[in-house]
Amino acid sequence: MKTISISIDVEWAHKEVINDLFQLLNERDIKATLFCTHEGIVSHQHERAIHPNFRPDGDAIKHIKKELGSRFESCPSPEIYRRVIEYTRQFVPEAKGTRSHCLFSDFDLIIQYEKCGIEYDSSYFLPLNTGLRPLMKERNIVELPFYYMDHMDIQLQTTKFDIKNLKLDEPGLKIFGLHPNMVYINAQTEKHYIESKVAYHNPKELINYRRDGWGIRTLFIALLDYIKDHNLETKTLGEINDEFRASLIHDLPTKEHDLTPETINS
Ligand SMILES: [Zn+2]
Repeated sequence: MKTISISIDVEWAHKEVINDLFQLLNERDIKATLFCTHEGIVSHQHERAIHPNFRPDGDAIKHIKKELGSRFESCPSPEIYRRVIEYTRQFVPEAKGTRSHCLFSDFDLIIQYEKCGIEYDSSYFLPLNTGLRPLMKERNIVELPFYYMDHMDIQLQTTKFDIKNLKLDEPGLKIFGLHPNMVYINAQTEKHYIESKVAYHNPKELINYRRDGWGIRTLFIALLDYIKDHNLETKTLGEINDEFRASLIHDLPTKEHDLTPETINS
């Protein structure tokens, strides 16, 4: 498997900044998966999934605190998780997939994803590892581990924004994770990105932070051009999920029960 997939963590970006990224994709007729954070994200031909924010200072938790009032403090974590998923899903009712903001993970979270009808999760980050593939987790949730993240690249300078270092010839599923603001400013370092945050929601100001030279934008464009020039196969995460499920012979048990193996066999 050498499939390439482009995913975008929408990250509360301004519409114009998101449209700028769409333009880069649409010019090359490449479909992506959008992990949505807020309402009004128009999918065009792209897939929409959810990007729930479980952080205590995040938008979803603030909303739930207001909704529950004094009951919030005694609210069990699984219920909070369910409410965060539902809060995000109202913007994307058709979502089958999720990537949690900041890759938050918890044993009880998977149960809530199952209850909310989520089929795949792409929150497991395994940077530039060869041989990645879809995997089945518990509760019939497919994990689609992702291969590249722009934020890691500006922090650790892993690829030095050179397409050769993306190892596109190596075997394995390659899911790329991008953020609209980082593409828009051609982010080069963490410091550069942090400085640009004062203009986060103001594209006319934000454009002043766009830098020349190699950065996330130039690497992203080089990747998209490479895909087109080499006629490489791209799929949305939803398509990968569907194909992987169709290839499975047996589903793992998903229903909880109190029967022990002894009682089942008797
Ligand atoms: Zn995020």
